[in-house]
Amino acid sequence: MAGHCHCLDCQHMTGAGHSSMIGFPKAAVTMQGQLEFHETTADSGNKVGRGACATCGSLVAARSSGFPDMATIFVGSLDDPKRFKPQFVVFTVRANGWDHMDPALPKFERMPPMQS
Ligand SMILES: [Zn+2]
Repeated sequence: MAGHCHCLDCQHMTGAGHSSMIGFPKAAVTMQGQLEFHETTADSGNKVGRGACATCGSLVAARSSGFPDMATIFVGSLDDPKRFKPQFVVFTVRANGWDHMDPALPKFERMPPMQS
């Protein structure tokens, strides 16, 4: 899955209007290097951790207690972020009017129910 999230935690962590991320099956992802995770409680009640590189501070990955088998990667940390093809937008209820949303993408006021 790939999409944009406008929740307040993503706004705070990125310092921007939203985060852009891709979710992979955890077993398909190999991480190298040290990430420092900052944990918050999402509106859903899930514990969400956003991991930044311990060396440069770049936001790299996220994890959620609600999706224990998924590894989420922040698109801006990829070597080739141009390959990102967003499929949806979540937490539009928190979006700022100045932050553009692709009118062609499906939008959800909050996090829709997903199969993990
Ligand atoms: Zn978010």
